[in-house]
Amino acid sequence: MALYIHVPFCTMMCPFCIFFSVPYSRDRARPYFKALTGELEGVLSRLEGASFREVYVGGGTPTLATEEVCEALDLVRSMGHRFEASVEASPYDIDDHKVSQLVSAGVTRISLGVQSFRPDALPRIGRPRISKEGLRAAIEACSRARTVNVDVLLGLPGQGRRDLELELEAFYESKANQLTLYPLMPSIREGATLPPVSERRERGLYYFAVDRAKTMGLSQDTVWSFSKGPSGLSDEYIVDFNLFIGVGAGAMSHVEGLFYANTFNLRKYEDAAAKGRSPVALARRLSPGEEQRLYALYKLCGLRLPKRGFRRRFGKPVYLAMPREVMAGLALGLLRDRGEELVVTRRGLYAISYLMKAFYVKISQIRAIAIRKGF
Ligand code: SF4
Repeated sequence: MALYIHVPFCTMMCPFCIFFSVPYSRDRARPYFKALTGELEGVLSRLEGASFREVYVGGGTPTLATEEVCEALDLVRSMGHRFEASVEASPYDIDDHKVSQLVSAGVTRISLGVQSFRPDALPRIGRPRISKEGLRAAIEACSRARTVNVDVLLGLPGQGRRDLELELEAFYESKANQLTLYPLMPSIREGATLPPVSERRERGLYYFAVDRAKTMGLSQDTVWSFSKGPSGLSDEYIVDFNLFIGVGAGAMSHVEGLFYANTFNLRKYEDAAAKGRSPVALARRLSPGEEQRLYALYKLCGLRLPKRGFRRRFGKPVYLAMPREVMAGLALGLLRDRGEELVVTRRGLYAISYLMKAFYVKISQIRAIAIRKGF
């Protein structure tokens, strides 16, 4: 199982963002981390005997509160969990000191929200310019962690194939060893979003990037991520750990048969912690069929669905549990049966990327409604 810790603070509100975040201030962060520590202690003591093998700290911008993030990781470790840790960071605020703190706290992967290596593209997506040298220094600082991932957006306004090629080349020349090229999605913020990308354009850009990455010798680890060497943890922790527990305001969890989310309201979250109440605000029970399809989607995002793993989890073969989906995937050439596993073909890559995007867009719509309704 994976543990997700949400840090909802940012110094900028990007118009393409699908995650829950609020403007950062020290005064806001202090009570938040007190509440988060309380929730984390409760989760860890309730789950005594369970083992978290990955801790993913996302946001927001967790490195605005590096000390508190390290304390949370120490707390999890002090309860006997042996895990790899991944932390999201912003190229605008990361530095050697923060990276030292993270690495000392056992962080093996830092994921930088670069979005574009091209300084002139940043103002067009509502972000301040960062020079090539500044970006290089940020990536170099992070390279003390075993894996340095850079997130780059696919489908930015005006982005053509040559622009995408330049992004891939800049990644290749940098010290980052993993690239997550994720598609532009409608923002969580009302009225603040970038023009949507058509499916046709997105598909063309996607296959261009997949092919170019291959000719550069990069290996593809998930539908969206590529690496220079052996792959480490990826942005899609749900691929390896399809069950996860989230702590923090707005954090989502998926445990056997249940999908639920904590309140998105910081005051309610802190109140719940102070009164020892659960911060869960929304929950949805999943049918066995939904659970099986989600599992299959998570795994296929990682390009392969192990048949034995599916059978162990659901007590029946994937062919019997999802006959229509599997047969259609094979007939359309999106999947191939390799005996032990179903693998995603080149043709199937975009189909799975499309489904993953649809899943994230749905989650982000739920987030937006929950925030608006004060959950
Ligand atoms: S994209 Fe990153 S920095 Fe921008 S608002 Fe979202 S979480 Fe914050």
